[in-house]
Amino acid sequence: MKLNELTAHEILTLIKAKKTSADEIYDAVLGRIDQCDKDVRAYVRLRGAQMDSDGANGNASQPLPIAIKDNICIRDVETTCCSRILTGFKPPYDATIIAKLKNAGVPIAGQTNMDEFAFGSSTENSCHGPTRNPWNLACVPGGSSGGSAAAVAAHEAIWAIGSDTGGSIRQPASFCGVVGLKPTYGRVSRYGLIAFASSLDQIGPITKDVTDAAILLNIIAGYDPKDSTSVDLPVPDYTRALINDVKGLTIGIPKEYFVEGIDPEVNAAMMSSIEVLKKCGALFKEVSLPHTEYAVATYYLVATAEASSNLARYDGVQYGLRLQPSQVRKTALMDMYEETRDIGFGREAKRRIMLGTYALSSGYYDDYYLRGLKVRTLIKNDFDQVFTQCDAILTPTAPTTAFKIGEKTNDPLAMYLSDIYTISVNLSGVPAVSVPCGFSREGLPIGLQIITKPFDEETLFRLAYTYEQNTDWHKRKAELKTYAKVK
Ligand code: GLN
Repeated sequence: MKLNELTAHEILTLIKAKKTSADEIYDAVLGRIDQCDKDVRAYVRLRGAQMDSDGANGNASQPLPIAIKDNICIRDVETTCCSRILTGFKPPYDATIIAKLKNAGVPIAGQTNMDEFAFGSSTENSCHGPTRNPWNLACVPGGSSGGSAAAVAAHEAIWAIGSDTGGSIRQPASFCGVVGLKPTYGRVSRYGLIAFASSLDQIGPITKDVTDAAILLNIIAGYDPKDSTSVDLPVPDYTRALINDVKGLTIGIPKEYFVEGIDPEVNAAMMSSIEVLKKCGALFKEVSLPHTEYAVATYYLVATAEASSNLARYDGVQYGLRLQPSQVRKTALMDMYEETRDIGFGREAKRRIMLGTYALSSGYYDDYYLRGLKVRTLIKNDFDQVFTQCDAILTPTAPTTAFKIGEKTNDPLAMYLSDIYTISVNLSGVPAVSVPCGFSREGLPIGLQIITKPFDEETLFRLAYTYEQNTDWHKRKAELKTYAKVK
């Protein structure tokens, strides 16, 4: 097996035994990028040889090239959220998680493609054009961290970092057949993450298996005084939670999640997954999350309101792009703002700014934004209630497998509705992971979502690890083909 196809923990074992070197690993990863990124298009910027200097003192102690979503600030390296409006923006500082990765001696392979400002579920809303799904190049990789998930699935990185505001780590992980974990809100510092919706955003790992997710979370988790929402709780060693035993754990299956709209193949994969965990000793019970039907509407009010306010700072003055007005008029400053925002933002970003500004405007604030916040509390209460009866909740990560590029671009509502299983998790702040749990007849991956209580990532790891150890789905490799027929 080629080095770039191994997991981080497999490579670490080889390094310990002195059976490989940093140079061999870098060559394997860079060679793979060279070979296939023209098809996959996971990366928007590569570090190339500069990767060597990312590890502490240029001496990487964990030479495991990582792919970073393009919304996480890297000092002096262009970081744009795949938006034209941030063209040329070079952050003057490292995000906390970048500093942590550098301290751990993990080199950065490059920055990955994403939906502009993380607005989307397919990576099609990028100023660089779409990334392709390594399992079928005609399909989307999911989004918004589609570049990160595709890079891992295509073995163009050993592991990756994504961000998740409404599913953007878990859904692309599910579409690309890899593991994606959204930690509890407050577990990982967002200092240096370019904000989308500040009350929902979290950073997390995208990896080839559950063990790697635990290793990567160990590196990036923890309190950070620079992020006032990060929580000052001790970080356990997550690798100790990798226990192949779930006896006695009770898992809830929310009845509202298995209704029309769910692809029969996704449903079948879920049912088989339940059987696997039952055989391992988990107990199952039906539970209810009664406010699920309001989740999509609530999310798209709260998230767009916060986004419109976060994006107000991009006006051509401080960051990235500045367009001079075509003619010098009395209102030259207003013209400059308008031109810059008009050319700088893509269609989906404009749609969200308008939706969010509307929801926050006087006269509508109480009816939309405030009401959205109240319903959000009801959704969170549903989770609190369920967690008095069980240790975890099991759901599909997405109602379907990856769809074709272009299939949903003209129907934003259909795109929003496909977030149904992931967004309540962000509205409630709880942690969740997506692990591969099967394939469709067309050979596209299916993801299983496990959700636990706030700061109980350990139970998340225990369940995900047990599931993985008792199945083979994570061992399949994407072939980078375009199949003729995709439903
Ligand atoms: N698909 C969701 C959206 O479009 C979630 C995106 C995300 O988590 N960043 O907002």
